Amino acid sequence: MEKKEDHSLEVLLTAEQITAKVNILGETISRDYADAYEIVLVAVLRGSVYFTVDLSRQLSVPFILDFIGISSYGGSSSGVVRITKDLDVNIAQKHVLLVEDIVDTGLTLNYLLKNLIIRNPLSLKVCTFLDMPGRRIVDVPADYKGFELPDVFVVGYGLDYHERYRNLPYVAKKNLEG
Ligand code: 5GP
Repeated sequence: MEKKEDHSLEVLLTAEQITAKVNILGETISRDYADAYEIVLVAVLRGSVYFTVDLSRQLSVPFILDFIGISSYGGSSSGVVRITKDLDVNIAQKHVLLVEDIVDTGLTLNYLLKNLIIRNPLSLKVCTFLDMPGRRIVDVPADYKGFELPDVFVVGYGLDYHERYRNLPYVAKKNLEG
């Protein structure tokens, strides 16, 4: 199906750049957890699903895939977050790798980490596809990260604008005035 060109988009990361980075992250994570019996990969719904699936295919360590759903009150960067779908797996005494699409203000990740740590995981690490350090309000750790970007609104590779653009194979800056 031919798609209409969208002039509001400016490509920042190509599909090839993303694939290469996901491969490197997969290798690094597999190496770091080489001695682990298994890990629990937690994808944050819905933006990180595309990244998590691709990353998981590059892992040589056994893993359980689980999902946590969140919704933000008062806009995505308010920091007031509610769990809409909890994990199915009990993560107590398990190695947990939380997979995020983007760390922007850090408020969402900060909430999630606090929520997960009280469940007594054996370890808790974070892998984020994108990092926008310029927008940080809370200092949160990202053990693994794909790309750092400047403070722009981006879509694609799981990231949406009103539920659109998630399926783009690349990441683009979205001009919100257009
Ligand atoms: P936070 O500001 O709490 O770090 O990020 C909250 C959430 O806002 C992210 O998980 C992501 O879903 C969304 N978000 C933040 N920045 C962007 C962006 O540039 N583009 C899109 N599509 N979503 C974003």
